[in-house]
Amino acid sequence: MKLLRVDMTTLQTRWEIVPEIYQQFGGRALIARLLLEEIPAACDALGPHNKLIVAPGLLGGAGVTTAGRLSVGGKSPLTGGVKEANAGGIGGDTLGKMGIKAIVVEGQPEQGQFHLLHIQGDAAELLPAEDVRGLGTYATSEKLQERYGADAMVISIGQAGEFLMRGAGIAVTGEREQRSNHAARGGLGAVMGSKGLKAVVIEKPVGKSVSFADVELFRNASRAFAQKLIADPKLGAQGGQHLYGTSSIVGAVNEMGSLPTRNFSSGSFEQAATLRGEHLREAILAREGNIGTRCMPGCVIACRNQYVDESGMPIVGTLQYETIGLVGSNLGLGNLDDVARLNFMCNDFGLDTIETGAALGVAIEAGLAEFGNVESIIALLNQVSEGTILGRMLGNGVVTTGQVMGIRRVPAALGQAMPAYDPRSLKGNGVTYATSPQGADHTAGNAFGARNEVNPLGIQGQKELSLKLQIIAAMLDSTGLCLFARPPIIANPQLMVDMLNGIYGWGWTKDDYDRANRDVLRTELEFNRRAGITKEDYRIPEYMREEPLAPHNAIFDVPDSELDSVFDTL
Ligand code: SF4
Repeated sequence: MKLLRVDMTTLQTRWEIVPEIYQQFGGRALIARLLLEEIPAACDALGPHNKLIVAPGLLGGAGVTTAGRLSVGGKSPLTGGVKEANAGGIGGDTLGKMGIKAIVVEGQPEQGQFHLLHIQGDAAELLPAEDVRGLGTYATSEKLQERYGADAMVISIGQAGEFLMRGAGIAVTGEREQRSNHAARGGLGAVMGSKGLKAVVIEKPVGKSVSFADVELFRNASRAFAQKLIADPKLGAQGGQHLYGTSSIVGAVNEMGSLPTRNFSSGSFEQAATLRGEHLREAILAREGNIGTRCMPGCVIACRNQYVDESGMPIVGTLQYETIGLVGSNLGLGNLDDVARLNFMCNDFGLDTIETGAALGVAIEAGLAEFGNVESIIALLNQVSEGTILGRMLGNGVVTTGQVMGIRRVPAALGQAMPAYDPRSLKGNGVTYATSPQGADHTAGNAFGARNEVNPLGIQGQKELSLKLQIIAAMLDSTGLCLFARPPIIANPQLMVDMLNGIYGWGWTKDDYDRANRDVLRTELEFNRRAGITKEDYRIPEYMREEPLAPHNAIFDVPDSELDSVFDTL
C-alpha cells in the first residue's frame, strides 16, 4: 500500500511506501498514530503544522458489507485535541481499492489560495480551484462530477470550511441519491480550508482490487458477517434500522427523557410524534421518495432515506436522528419539512448539524430568533454562507456562540457540542462525553443501545460501560465498519480477526486485536496530554450538574472520581 503526501506550501504531491510504523493501522488508529508521530501536539490547529489525514479503514476496498467508511482527521480546532470523523459514501471503498492507505495534507499555501487535488490512477496533482470557490458542497461536487465523470468520488468543503469556521465538516459523495455524506464533527472542514484545499477528486479506479493473504479465510468470515447482519431482527429487511433508519429511536429517546429540547432545557418534546421514524417513513412513501437506500455499495442494512418535499423533489438524503434532535426538537421544531430544509442548508454550507443545531439553540436562547419559528431560524443560518459577523459566530460553534452572547447554558464538552442525548438522563453518554479523547461525540461510545443493561439514570456501571463502548468505537472507526453493523462483531470478535488476517496475513489473535483497539485510545489520550488538555477540560458543564432536566428531574451526578478512573483498566 502507499501513502500520498500533499504539500500545500510547495504545491507538490509525492507517493511513498507506507512506513513500517503505520502498516498495521487504518482509519482512526492511523490518524492517531500519525498525528502523535508527525505533528507538534500544541500546534495551531489551523496553522501550517497541523495535518489533514484522509484514510480508509483496514477493511476498505475489500468488499465487506458496511465497511467502506472514510475517516478524516487532524488536530481539532474545536477541542484542541485529536479528531477523527468518518463518513459513509464511496470514499473508503475507492481509496482501499487503489491501495491508498492515507492522503496526508501538509503545510499551508499563501492566504486566499484554494486548490483542488485530482487523483487518477498513480497521477496526483494540485489544480486551481477558482471555479468552485465559494460554492456549497452540492454545487461543488456536481460541477466536479460534470468535469471528471459521474463516477468520480468528490470530497469537498463548503463556505463554512473556506471561512475557517470551527463547526465546518467535510462532505463525501456516495451511492446514487446519497450524494451528501459528512465527516462532520470537530471542525475538520476548517482544517481542510486552512490548507487551501477546496476538494479532492478521485476518478473511479478501473480493474483495481485488494489482494488477499488468505482469500478463503477472508471470504468465509465476511460471508458469515453479512449473513449475521441479514438475520438480525433489528438490522435485516424487517428491522427498525432498515425500515425507519436512525430516526427509529426518536420515540425511545424522547420517552427516556433525553431528547434535546429548546437548548437542552427539557428531555422530552411535546411534538416528538411528528419527528418519529414511523412518521418520517409514511411522509416519504406518500410523496414517492425513497426509504431503505444505502450510502455505499453492498450494504445489507440500507438504513438511509431520501427525504422529498410535497412535490416529490429531493431535499436531503438522508434525514438522520442526530439532525432531527439538534435542528428539530432542540430548536422547538416538530415538522420534518422544516428539519429537512435546515439539514440541506447545513450540508450545503458544509456545517456539522450537531454543532450548528446546538449553536442555534444557544443563539435562540439569547433572543436572536424564536424557538419553533423556522423562518427566523433560517434567516439566522443564512448568515453563515454570507460570512457576516453573526454567521461567523454561529459557524464557529456552540462554545463561541455562548461566549459572544453571554449564555451560560452551553451543551458542550471539550469545546464540542453534545449530540442528541442529554447526559443527565443517559449518564453513560455523559461519561463518554466527559472522558473521550474525541470530546462530546456519541460515535465514540454511545450507551443508548445498552439502556436495558445499565440504568441510564443511575451512576452504577456507567464507567465500565463507557470504557467498553469506547473500545468498540475505536475498532469500528479503525476498520471502516459502520456503527450499525457492530452486533455480530461484538458477539464474535473472531470474525473481524479472520477478516483482517485474511487480507493482511498478520496472524493476529483475539488478544492482538483487543490490544490494537485499546491502543487507539491510549495514543489519542497521549496526544491530548501533550496538547495540554487536562481532566478538567473534559468536564460536563456545571449547569448540567445543577439544573434538573424534565421529565425525570435528572442532573448529571457521576462523580469526578469516577470520570477520572474510566481509563484505569484500559
Ligand atoms: S447501515 Fe446505513 S449508514 Fe451504515 S453503511 Fe449501511 S446505509 Fe450506510
